[in-house]
Amino acid sequence: QAVFRFDTGALLEQVGTGKESLNFMKRRIQRLAAQWASAARRLDDKLRSHRRDEKRILVHVGFLTEESGDVFSPKVLKGGPLGEMVQWADILTALYVLGHDLKISVSVKELHGFLGVPPGRGSCPLTGALPFDLIYTDYHGLQQMKQHMGLSLKKHKCHIRVIDTFGTEPAYNHEEYATLHGYRTNWGYWNLNSQQYMTMFPHTPDNSFMGFVAEELNETARLNIQKSKVNNMAVVYGKEVSMWKGKETFLSILHRHMEIHGTVYYETQRPPEVPAFVKNHGLLPQQELQQLLRKAKLFIGFGFPYEGPAPLEAIANGCIFLQPRFSPPHSSLNHEFFRGKPTSREVSSQHPYAEQYIGRPHVITVDFNNSEEFDAAIRDIMKINVEPFLPYEYTCEGMLERVHAYIQNQDFCSPEARFPPVNASRIWQGSPLAPFMLLPNSSVLTWASNITSHASWPPLGALQLLASLQGESCVKACQDAGLICEPALYRFINIKEAFNALDFQCAGLESEMNHLFPAFSAEHAECGLQQDPLLFSCAGASIKYQRLCPCRDYRDGQVALCRDCL
Ligand code: UDP
Repeated sequence: QAVFRFDTGALLEQVGTGKESLNFMKRRIQRLAAQWASAARRLDDKLRSHRRDEKRILVHVGFLTEESGDVFSPKVLKGGPLGEMVQWADILTALYVLGHDLKISVSVKELHGFLGVPPGRGSCPLTGALPFDLIYTDYHGLQQMKQHMGLSLKKHKCHIRVIDTFGTEPAYNHEEYATLHGYRTNWGYWNLNSQQYMTMFPHTPDNSFMGFVAEELNETARLNIQKSKVNNMAVVYGKEVSMWKGKETFLSILHRHMEIHGTVYYETQRPPEVPAFVKNHGLLPQQELQQLLRKAKLFIGFGFPYEGPAPLEAIANGCIFLQPRFSPPHSSLNHEFFRGKPTSREVSSQHPYAEQYIGRPHVITVDFNNSEEFDAAIRDIMKINVEPFLPYEYTCEGMLERVHAYIQNQDFCSPEARFPPVNASRIWQGSPLAPFMLLPNSSVLTWASNITSHASWPPLGALQLLASLQGESCVKACQDAGLICEPALYRFINIKEAFNALDFQCAGLESEMNHLFPAFSAEHAECGLQQDPLLFSCAGASIKYQRLCPCRDYRDGQVALCRDCL
């Protein structure tokens, strides 16, 4: 049984020293310690009646190893990316606070030591049992584990979770399919269950949403913020000079209305890209950035970096986040940054999570190329007052709740999870009922509850079956119904009866490896079932198909969990 820990002192010792990245993570763990402790107390009360098994967990942070080149650590104090370190610090804290037996590795040598691979025997396969229940790593770490575990990686890979900022869609993850159909990238093709990839934001529900936390304000801090807000103060999102290049027009429009602050890293001379009217503080320690955000009214992004933590921190400190809409959206097809990333996701603004999950009045997304719209947005912002806001899923309690639920319920190792029945009919056969039924007074199809409740997480009761429109993905179809696509429930709808329940008349029924299946092709009246469970995918759309979608409900502010998922 796992026991909550309320003091992170021992974790700090475990994290080690010697790199700026580790120092940054330790400062963060220390700074948020009290917040984690009170969240742990609340969750402890909430989960009193739940069994929580203590797991043996290895965290191997591949991108910080010398063997991967560690390009991040030397840039920590020079404006380099910090989002990943924010996330890893929070993952370590969450796992530790939840009471698991944690080992941390930031070098291949430590990895070997923990896995019990004899030194000097590069690719000696790990014989016998894996000494961990779970391994959290990243794409670099996965590669290192492959090199050093050899063939035994395949045997143990169901225990692995890959922290993957932007996400990996099933079509890119499936080696054979990716190779045959042009989805092969530098990153994908590990043939994992796509939910083993864990993302920074809830991008595609094909992956699990890991997230991170932002600082929460107590009542006193909230009141103080209201008093100390400076109505005409703006902070620019961008700690690296390159993010300011070519932004003179926006900056001069903004400067007509507001006093502009920046936190751009510079060595000795003020960078020419940052105009003289900007008050540049240089790169600030996280804590001081929070103080600056508490005073500011506006936090403004100029399009890069994509999807970082800072906008959530700004909104949590009572700022309005103004950001550019991308039209057409940025994706791996049209933008250098996303090229080669294993996702077809279309990024509609600098921070789609802020746009879609938070929105007005906290987040305003406009076309920056239209100066009038841009100017009007700034005028509006100066007129409105907003309260600090942080979605529950980005609070410490929210992250602990979600990680707890994953650890106790996600299972990619059992034979059922590894080889789910392609034809789920056998689960309900023998019952006189069809597996799907309409909810009373509604058009929603659910799994008939009186047919064997089959072990599943999320539970089968959460399943709501929908058909997408032609050309629409299941991500979108579920979203439009106020639900979320749940890939773990695909196996229950990959059956002929699901087409019947949705009134599709199948002239033919085929089974194929196609990441859009199960789907109905209107042109040929063909019904297509999915042949390979690894290809069940919420993402993906084609004008040729209406897709069958397993949707589910979700908790307020916690999209990763269905109402009955705890
Ligand atoms: N940050 C900081 N000092 C600054 C600017 C940013 O400590 O002057 C921190 C900020 O608090 C956030 C982190 O950098 O948690 C990552 O921010 P960003 O959204 O810029 O994402 P990145 O591109 O670094 O991954």
